[in-house]
Amino acid sequence: MSAVKTVKDVDVSGKRVLVRVDFNVPLEDGKVSDDSRIAGALPTIKHLLDKGARVILMSHLGRPKGKRDPKFSLRPVASDLADKLGQPVLFLEDCIGDEVEDAVKQMKDGNVVLLENLRFHEAEEKNGEEMARALARLAEVYVNDAFGTAHRAHASTDGVTQFVDTCVAGFLMEKELKFLGDHTEKPDRPFVVILGGAKVSDKIKVIDALLEKADTILIGGAMAYTFKLAQGGKVGDSLSEPDRVDVARAALKKAEERGVTFMLPVDNMIVDSVDFDARTVGQSRFTGEGEDIPDGWEGVDIGPKTIARFSREIAGAKTVLWNGPMGIFEIEACNKGSFAIAEAVAGNTGCVSIIGGGDSVKAVRKSGVSDRVSFISTGGGASLEFLEGKTLPGVAALDTH
Ligand code: AMP
Repeated sequence: MSAVKTVKDVDVSGKRVLVRVDFNVPLEDGKVSDDSRIAGALPTIKHLLDKGARVILMSHLGRPKGKRDPKFSLRPVASDLADKLGQPVLFLEDCIGDEVEDAVKQMKDGNVVLLENLRFHEAEEKNGEEMARALARLAEVYVNDAFGTAHRAHASTDGVTQFVDTCVAGFLMEKELKFLGDHTEKPDRPFVVILGGAKVSDKIKVIDALLEKADTILIGGAMAYTFKLAQGGKVGDSLSEPDRVDVARAALKKAEERGVTFMLPVDNMIVDSVDFDARTVGQSRFTGEGEDIPDGWEGVDIGPKTIARFSREIAGAKTVLWNGPMGIFEIEACNKGSFAIAEAVAGNTGCVSIIGGGDSVKAVRKSGVSDRVSFISTGGGASLEFLEGKTLPGVAALDTH
């Protein structure tokens, strides 16, 4: 991948800089209830302000479906951001239009403006040209610091870049590309990949792409049961995809051909019932090594022998990438596997440890080890598509060296 230019590569002094950030934050009673995404954007914003730029921020929030809906207004973010920056943030009631253009013209160096939710306009998600042009009129330089939406070709991530000459990445975006891209393209070896989650069908392209790069792949979660079926095992009532057994078999074959160590769970925690809503399970036990899962029972987590083996592999790694939980980690009784893997990853302080987005991020945060891993991706779908080797429209649109 050619290196994209970043905010450090361009002169922003005195310029109007339009920054696509991810301020898709949870709101409760009209207040920001988790400000981590706002905090995450601060390094880029502060850098631009230090360099004397006029900073215009834009984001989506929730799914207002192309209509103005006060529930999804970004206004509460403006006051939160102003507190964090220690300076006023001017909130504009729209993201495009004459009034916005006038307000932006009045800006002075070091001023910050936050535009209203991009998705109040249908044209944002449709990548409408008019909207892209209207956004572009606000900017002399465009910055994308919202990796989580980079897999979507929207007016604010793709269209706008056609009408702005200088388009670069912010620091968050740069970090995502460095860890999910560079560190997995040219990993320090051994490179151990841990994949879990619900479905083989969701992750097969990632598995396929990583089979070309990894030394070892550890599989957990319900996904492992489709692989168990592919090996002729029985999985009882576990979540599995019998119609994807051929895909799983092909992955196993590819691993063998490429000399990739492909490890499936050797034991599982099984239960005779699960009530996801109540977060409870019925009777539970661990299977013996290699034992089939009987009918009437469901695999919900990896067992202790698997935890020990996976942890050993992780301890010897120089690069670790983890995507997808090892079990139904939302239920306390079934979170031991995911938490143990989180501990193992965090415990290997000599490796580059990358948490590749989605539910494994939640598992890492819940287990309290987030500050002991090298990088936690902010993307869900974007991280997966990037790891699949797809070109993300929001990344492809940026200038390269
Ligand atoms: P994904 O989005 O593909 O990473 O999948 C995450 C989901 O997989 C989580 O909601 C987990 O509860 C679920 N999951 C992981 N292991 C299992 C399992 N053994 N049975 C059912 N669901 C599982």
